[in-house]
Amino acid sequence: MDPDWKCPNVGRCELFPRLRSEHQLRICLERYCLDEFSKCARYQHARASGTKPPLELLPTGELLPTAPTINSRSDSRPDE
Ligand code: SF4
Repeated sequence: MDPDWKCPNVGRCELFPRLRSEHQLRICLERYCLDEFSKCARYQHARASGTKPPLELLPTGELLPTAPTINSRSDSRPDE
């Protein structure tokens, strides 16, 4: 049985599945999704703008690091 999620956006939040599955993000799940959802940066963004927040926006307002792409690797060599 699911816990008693407080946030009304649980069903449409793109980050929510990661918060559930990634252990290091669990603190956000417990603090925001299960409790103070009105303080969540994702919730506030959606409410204020009516648009989806960026996928990497954490409830704390910080951004999740994105995986480096081939072109952004510092050890990549220019085309020959
Ligand atoms: S991360 Fe924020 S917007 Fe998403 S479900 Fe949790 S409290 Fe709601």
